[in-house]
Amino acid sequence: MPRTKNKAILFLLSVLPFWISAQEKSFFKAPDGRSIVSADLHIHTTFSDGSVWPNIRVEEALKEGLDLISITDHLEYQPHRADLPNPNRNRSFDIALGTAINSKLSVIRGAEITRSMPPGHINAVFIEDANKLLFPDDPRAGIEEANRQNGFVFWNHPNWEAQRKDGIARLDPMHVDLIEKKLLHGIEVVNFNTLSEEAIEIALENNLTMVGTSDVHKLTLWDFDIPQGGHRPMTFVLSKNNSPEEIKKSLFEGETVVWFKEMMIGKEKCLKDLIKANLTASSPNYKGDELIGKVVLKNHSANTLHLKYTGPYTFHKDGVIFKIDPYAEKSIDIKTLEIKSNLELPFELLNGIIGLKKYLNFKIITD
Ligand SMILES: [Zn+2]
Ligand SMILES: [Zn+2]
Repeated sequence: MPRTKNKAILFLLSVLPFWISAQEKSFFKAPDGRSIVSADLHIHTTFSDGSVWPNIRVEEALKEGLDLISITDHLEYQPHRADLPNPNRNRSFDIALGTAINSKLSVIRGAEITRSMPPGHINAVFIEDANKLLFPDDPRAGIEEANRQNGFVFWNHPNWEAQRKDGIARLDPMHVDLIEKKLLHGIEVVNFNTLSEEAIEIALENNLTMVGTSDVHKLTLWDFDIPQGGHRPMTFVLSKNNSPEEIKKSLFEGETVVWFKEMMIGKEKCLKDLIKANLTASSPNYKGDELIGKVVLKNHSANTLHLKYTGPYTFHKDGVIFKIDPYAEKSIDIKTLEIKSNLELPFELLNGIIGLKKYLNFKIITD
């Protein structure tokens, strides 16, 4: 069947360039003196309501170039129980860990505590034993046990339309209490294919860590259009180094940026540090006695940067709103009125979200 074979080869050719580039280049350059860890902290397998075995989750993550994942199967919701009795809720983690051994991928133990609202669904990662989190009749006991195990605990999809009909994330008194008692440490601002700007506000007002996850149940390849250049939602942890201890510490400290489609979401300082490491500008270059300085901007990241120049000058060949493709350069001819050896260029990052309808403003100094 040569036709099918040809189709398969064409498909592989279309998929391979993305996977190869994702593995060879980092998604973002780390800010000076720090590490950047790409993480997906919310993933399902056949051990709850997912459709794939845990080893496939590891292989997907490696192909996509992730650094760290957590398999977080529902503790209570076990729709495959008739076929897979699953008496040990650590089993999906154990299998994934075995697959990831001797690879660059870290796998950390996790679980999804599955409740109606409030508190809704809660993920606990960096835990010691998922079995001990299973308290089907108590909405809080699993969260308290996850904290006893020094886990990082976050609220999943607070905007989920099955639990919030209007899609608006808002706190119930139980969430307020959990936050006050420091039992809840983070919140998903991105889950699967949704973004919650209200959850960003909740994170900022309550000093919670912003998390973005795939919550994948099928294949990431299908759900996130990876052959077309798409990617799963990820949380980038800005950490002192790559050790699990430091990654966990940085999660507790809220040092994250979430990547969703072309959007980057995070606390202002985190996003600013990240963008400054990933966008550089050459010093202006003038031709003859002209007063138009050519500056080359370079995007060192896998994300398209949508920029608006907010300074006093105008450009010779562009408007003030433009984009720079992943890992690409863009020249801008700036009418500086006099010769300048260097320039301070203020921008708004139109796809850099730091609050409810708020976007990152930052400056770059030319080299
Ligand atoms: Zn859930
Ligand atoms: Zn889930």
